[in-house]
Amino acid sequence: MKPVVTLVGRPNVGKSPLFTSLHPPRAALVADLPGLTSDRIYGDGKFGDRPYIVVDTGGLNGDGSGAGQDISALIAGQARLAMQEANAIVFLVDGRGGLTAGDEQIAAALRQMGKPIFVAVNKSEGVDPHIAAAEFQALGLGQPHAISAAHGDGVTSLMEAVLAELPAAAAEDVEPQEGVRVAVVGRPNVGKSTLINRMLGEERVLVYDQAGTTRDSIYIPYERDGRRYVLIDTAGVRRRARVEDVIEKFSVVKTLQAIDAAHVVIMMLDAREGVHTQDLTLAGMVVERGRALVIVVNKWDGLPQEQRQQVKTDIDRRLPFLDFAAIHFVSALHGTGVGNLFDAVQSAYAAAMRKIATPELTRILNQAVIHYPPPIAKGRRIKLRYAHQGGSNPPLIVIHGNQTAAVPAAYQRYLINTFREVFHLQGTPVRLEFKTGANPYAGRKNTLSKRQVAKRKRLQRYLKK
Ligand code: GDP
Repeated sequence: MKPVVTLVGRPNVGKSPLFTSLHPPRAALVADLPGLTSDRIYGDGKFGDRPYIVVDTGGLNGDGSGAGQDISALIAGQARLAMQEANAIVFLVDGRGGLTAGDEQIAAALRQMGKPIFVAVNKSEGVDPHIAAAEFQALGLGQPHAISAAHGDGVTSLMEAVLAELPAAAAEDVEPQEGVRVAVVGRPNVGKSTLINRMLGEERVLVYDQAGTTRDSIYIPYERDGRRYVLIDTAGVRRRARVEDVIEKFSVVKTLQAIDAAHVVIMMLDAREGVHTQDLTLAGMVVERGRALVIVVNKWDGLPQEQRQQVKTDIDRRLPFLDFAAIHFVSALHGTGVGNLFDAVQSAYAAAMRKIATPELTRILNQAVIHYPPPIAKGRRIKLRYAHQGGSNPPLIVIHGNQTAAVPAAYQRYLINTFREVFHLQGTPVRLEFKTGANPYAGRKNTLSKRQVAKRKRLQRYLKK
């Protein structure tokens, strides 16, 4: 699981410039997907070669809370959850504004978390770092780091200190558990626990009753038809006898980590509720991470015909960017349709891992181009010549040609759909990368056979005449 760094602080201390500097902008292709909402609160960061998740808590902002309100009372809901889930907390204060009572209240609350905490004194540009930090030593949270999020000063050394506290890659990253890793994700009450119980069969469930802690997803090894799986349970199956509040049950961080760790994601929707904004956010996370996907619409039992039609229309309209995934309409409660999910997972996995040979890809590219040529850009037709596979999970297809930067999004979608159909890539996102100019075979020395050398000499002699 990727470690989690959580940012806290009062309003206007400059959390968002720090947030963006920790979490590089998303790939353009993803941002272009129609209907996709991006969630600014959770981001992927990478420092050197170490990936992590950044969470920007809204809860401590205290906006509109009125003067004199106890900030610790605001440490509730998702903000508290985000802090509990953090591997390290960066507490941002305003170096120009100086230490405030609000900062002291936050510090007191943070101390009780028992987490590594780093005080970052922002807006310290042009000030001696020791002087900027001095006042905030009084918070009793260790040596403050003077930074300027807007200018990037001091952020590197802050992050070095933070990352030194983070756990190294977790066990499952180092020694992957055998089998296809399947994460079951969805909003609270969509039926994740019910589905997992169904998939496992009742007798398997009790075994996992005591495993893990409430905060972690549980990894459940499972075998079916001679194939191995590891189900990643974000819901905490069987831990639900206790009444917990809804916010506690649903954790975006936990879901993100599960998606990251999975090969295939089963994303659940509730047929009785339709598509919610939170569903869109989840869908965006899955696509952004390039995960193979199976969509499960649950609670299909006893649903009137017109409501069924409504749900289908809703999905087409609001989740058009998930059209690569199979949709299964099931009843986790009664078990209807659940058996087919294993086949769906297997085929999505196979698609995500597929290896396609260069001549095949190039042949299909050429056919696609003949069938429907790319448009003209700057008076010349865009040329697409070769294709090779640059990676899998998700499949990445690298296309070489001229003026490739001008290939319109609609044409890219046409190419993706063609590749998807021909190479059976249903169930996985497909990514394209374009390269202009350089011949991919340049620099590869082609040693000629004796016959070829003789032939070349003959030709050269002939040309000289
Ligand atoms: P989770 O929060 O996603 O793990 O959801 P649960 O599995 O706890 O299910 C939430 C509620 O929905 C429970 O009351 C289930 O009995 C109910 N439920 C789950 N699946 C179905 C289904 O297929 N049909 C119906 N009618 N109810 C279901």
